[in-house]
Amino acid sequence: MSGRRIGVLGGTFDPIHIGHLAAAEAAQQACELDEIRFVPTHVPPHRPDNPRASGYHRLQMVSRAVSGRAGWEVSDVELGRAGPSYTFDTLTTFRAEVPGAQFFFITGADAFAGIATWRRYPVVLDLAHFVVVARTGTTFESLRTLLPDLANRFVDTSTQAVSAALDAVAAPIFLVRARTPHVSSTDIRRRAATGLPLDGLVPAAVAAYIADHHLYAPAPGA
Ligand code: ATP
Ligand code: MG
Repeated sequence: MSGRRIGVLGGTFDPIHIGHLAAAEAAQQACELDEIRFVPTHVPPHRPDNPRASGYHRLQMVSRAVSGRAGWEVSDVELGRAGPSYTFDTLTTFRAEVPGAQFFFITGADAFAGIATWRRYPVVLDLAHFVVVARTGTTFESLRTLLPDLANRFVDTSTQAVSAALDAVAAPIFLVRARTPHVSSTDIRRRAATGLPLDGLVPAAVAAYIADHHLYAPAPGA
């Protein structure tokens, strides 16, 4: 089947939390996405801010978080590739897999603020329609200032219809003004390390997985 709208949400997902799910829901609603693929990123092992969960555990947590949601699935395309993950490569792979589909790459506003440092910028922006979801701490106004070259491509989905913009604007970048919960994986890892509950911050199945596998717990004796 061609022409379907496929969302892609990349992230470390260390762990996946309700902010990710809310961002995906907001993008799905705004852009009428048929499917969403959650893509855990391969994190090279030398990152300084350990402890962090392995790719295997992050994939398992995402799989539990999206289970039961029609059209949502997890992809291991980046975990299966050696070296650091690049969105350029991932979108190239997906486009070849599903010719004729329209891809929408979803990011939070904080992640999009760094877009100019991404591999193959600005060409990467032409491999999918980018969808930037609000996140506390980074305003859309700050993105306009930070990325003046892109400002004329921004389409505010709260005031402009997506389908009309797809016809009218060359390579639109959609802004989604959703109130996503003020949650981050960094905070969740800190909470878990001090034994605080994760209720309401991650899906129950993810909280159980973290507890069962002692993820993010301080090392014994630390
Ligand atoms: P960390 O604190 O480890 O950086 P994180 O909470 O930022 O974790 P990531 O895995 O880095 O989560 O994020 C993946 C994607 O989801 C990014 O594009 C990020 O901007 C977006 N995102 C994460 N949390 C939210 C949120 N609460 N609201 C909107 N977007 C979010
Ligand atoms: Mg982050």
